[in-house]
Order: sequence, then structure tokens, then C-alpha cells
Amino acid sequence: MAGICAAIEVGLPAKINVVVMPGLNEDELVDFVAFTRENPVQVRFIEFMPFSGNLWKPDRVFGYREMREVIDSRFELRALPGETSDVAKEFSIDGHAGTVGFITSMTDSFCSGCNRIRLTAEGKLKTCLFLPNRSSLRDMMRSGATDEEIASAIRADLMTKWKEHPPMSEWKHLDNLSMVQIGG
Ligand code: SF4
Repeated sequence: MAGICAAIEVGLPAKINVVVMPGLNEDELVDFVAFTRENPVQVRFIEFMPFSGNLWKPDRVFGYREMREVIDSRFELRALPGETSDVAKEFSIDGHAGTVGFITSMTDSFCSGCNRIRLTAEGKLKTCLFLPNRSSLRDMMRSGATDEEIASAIRADLMTKWKEHPPMSEWKHLDNLSMVQIGG
């Protein structure tokens, strides 16, 4: 809290990401929203996602609808305009200095608008958090590939992005990395 308050005081744009889990912190939803009344922070509630070693189970997901039920009983959220590629549904509340957002990866996927690609620390392209690594750009560069060859590999890998991820019941079969391995 001291760090967050210090960031706000010096005018840094502060974003607070909150992974919400039933029985752990869903009773803090209202407190986080109330925090945006006086503080110009962007609070984003995130559905718990499965990564290697994080003990994910479907019943540990506190979904968007459930979050809205809790929050809507106390606050009136107004949808803010966004871009197709936004990962969060953003809302303002009259009289609040900050905003509230939801990242609904598990119950209301937004893959069709997702423009995220990542490069792992080993130089491999990852076109989705939940799909296997693709081309090793590191190896291509070390073996003398041209820029056009690398661009062509990236384009081919991008075609593997899916329009929608599978339902939660199938996610345990995905061979996924941990967030630490992916790099955030
Ligand atoms: S494509 Fe992958 S990274 Fe993008 S929103 Fe869907 S699951 Fe998440």
C-alpha cells in the first residue's frame, strides 16, 4: 500500500492487477473498487488462469459474472470505449478518480481480438499464452537467416493464433509454461 500510495503521489500511472479467487479474496472486491474513489488508479480484476505449477482448477476461478454481481450491488459501472485488441473491459464510476477493469480470459474469451505475441527468454516466439512455443528466432538469427526469412516465419506463426480458446474443462490437458518461464 505504501508503494502504491507513493506512486500515486508522484503522479505515476498506477495499475493494480487483482487475480480473484473464491474463498481467498473475493470478499475484497468492493474494497478495491472503493479504493478508486479517491485514488486515480486502474484496478483490474483478473480471472485465475492455468499456468504450470499454479494449482489451477476450474472451481478456483471466480468468473466475470460473479464479480459483477458483487460489485453491481454497490456501484454503478459505466462502460468506457475501447479498442478491439483491449484485454480488459474497462469501466468508470461517477465520482471516482480511478477506473475498474476485468480481464475475463476464462469465462468470456477475447482471443479473436488478441494482438499479443511474446518472445521467450530463449528467443522462441509465443503467439498465445496457452499455445506451444513456435519458431526459435534466436536459432534462425544465429544460423544466418535473412530478415525476410525471419519475417516469413513470424507471419506463419501468427496464423496459428486461435479465434477462441477451448472451454475450461479441456485446459488441464494443455502443456503450458509458467508465467515466470513465459516472461510475464
Ligand atoms: S489468444 Fe491466447 S493470449 Fe490471446 S487472449 Fe486468447 S488465450 Fe489469451
